[in-house]
Amino acid sequence: MFLEPHYKGQRSGWIEVVCGAMFSGKTEELIRRLKRATFAHQKVAIFKPSIDIRYADTEVVSHDKNALLAIPVDKSSEILKQVGEATVVGIDEAQFFDDELVDVVQKLALDGKRVVVAGLDMDFRGKPFGPIPSLLAVAEYITKVHPICVHCGNLATHSYRLSAEKSKVLLGEKDSYEPRCRNCFNMGNIMDFHQNE
Ligand code: ZN
Repeated sequence: MFLEPHYKGQRSGWIEVVCGAMFSGKTEELIRRLKRATFAHQKVAIFKPSIDIRYADTEVVSHDKNALLAIPVDKSSEILKQVGEATVVGIDEAQFFDDELVDVVQKLALDGKRVVVAGLDMDFRGKPFGPIPSLLAVAEYITKVHPICVHCGNLATHSYRLSAEKSKVLLGEKDSYEPRCRNCFNMGNIMDFHQNE
């Protein structure tokens, strides 16, 4: 379990990244950290890409409907304009942001803010997703969370896409994806490959 470091009196902030496959509990972990900050009367601002239209516009909502209010923004530079007096900044679904997000979160941290970023580390092809790999490189603290493979019960690392939809930006729920371990993910891709022949 991640515990916040002591930082009172320090000038600079820091960057935390919570990443993992779908159904790994990333957003729940983001919400847990931000709620702790809220209970401690720290000013929290939460952002998400406006592309994430699954739920109500201004909420960061996890699969278990645990909600916090978030500001939808079109591009990462908007975060700097709208962050205001917040000392803790949450960013959800970070994989959908542009690459400038890496500079944005570093500016926020230099400005003394604690930045908590959550996002998918890999897309449905098993490739590193958007700005997440670069964020992992610059973060002080990294937490990788794992769901359980629906086929074998091992720890899952991949989001296997059940839908035939080709777009990488497919914001699916349980009917579109399932968590799989590396081996079951690979097996599924081989079977898809033969079906397409
Ligand atoms: Zn498996």
